[in-house]
Amino acid sequence: MSVLLEVNNLKKHYPVRKGFFGKTGAVVKAVDGVSLSIKRGETLAIVGESGCGKSTMGRSILRLIEPTDGEILFEQDDIRKLNPDQMRRFRTKMQIVFQDPYASLNPRWTIREILSEPFRLYEKLSASELKDRVSELMQVVGLSPYQADRFPHEFSGGQRQRVGIARALALKPQFVVCDEPVSALDVSIRAQVLNLMEDLQEQYSLTYMFISHDLSVVKFISDRVGVMYLGRLVEMAPTDDLFQNPLHPYTKALISALPLPDTEVKRERIILSGDVPNPQHPPAGCAFHTRCPSARPECKSVTPEWKEVSPGRSVACLLY
Ligand code: SF4
Ligand code: MG
Repeated sequence: MSVLLEVNNLKKHYPVRKGFFGKTGAVVKAVDGVSLSIKRGETLAIVGESGCGKSTMGRSILRLIEPTDGEILFEQDDIRKLNPDQMRRFRTKMQIVFQDPYASLNPRWTIREILSEPFRLYEKLSASELKDRVSELMQVVGLSPYQADRFPHEFSGGQRQRVGIARALALKPQFVVCDEPVSALDVSIRAQVLNLMEDLQEQYSLTYMFISHDLSVVKFISDRVGVMYLGRLVEMAPTDDLFQNPLHPYTKALISALPLPDTEVKRERIILSGDVPNPQHPPAGCAFHTRCPSARPECKSVTPEWKEVSPGRSVACLLY
């Protein structure tokens, strides 16, 4: 599989607004030097607790928010070097599905208006062509075209997310960032939407970046997983390897909290002490040292490097 997207040392730093006693120049390093690559047709999951920077990273890759630094190579083109007009045309190749389909769909627009919008912006279609394209899109995501003139509130959560997916696919993108696409849905319909996303991936040769805090969803859908903590990747591995043999102490703790389908295996749950530190004041050395059960004295001062420990497996931890 060839590489579709390569990200090098991506950063998104936000200036902190000056408080009453605040000093100037403080920044939150929401994404702080992430490098990764995604192969054509694969699903790379990005996991981590809320506030770890995974959504900011997804949006920065699409330039929905402007990165502070780093390179984003899409089919070897550095998209940070595109001017606004080039970027506008480029957008058709990269789309996003949002977590909350209700918040991301205009409540005053019918489904037809919502799904017509991308075509109006990018393609000149006749009224009858537009009608056909909207019907086709609705069928592709398992909705009845007869419902096109209804409003979002007339649909269930799962159906609304199907509309959100249809809108993302309207212009036939190659790459889709899926930002917690099933987290807002009832557990009972998550599998249906995930199955739909897998079918569409195959049908349209899509490449996914699947952002989630839910490891059971990630295990189901992804080919590889990147684990993020406080703005950085701490581990990257093929999905099966990560779940069978997690290397980073943070990954170990996340996986130990998953319910086991196989009751034969005895496994101890690792409870992490404390909360995720304030990203405005990340700990020195390894940012995880304040919660790490395996921390050593040097972890407080030495920042672990991102290292490939075996083919396809990388980790940032002083134990390796
Ligand atoms: Fe834990 Fe040290 Fe590894 Fe950080 S570098 S994860 S503190 S063992
Ligand atoms: Mg897949």
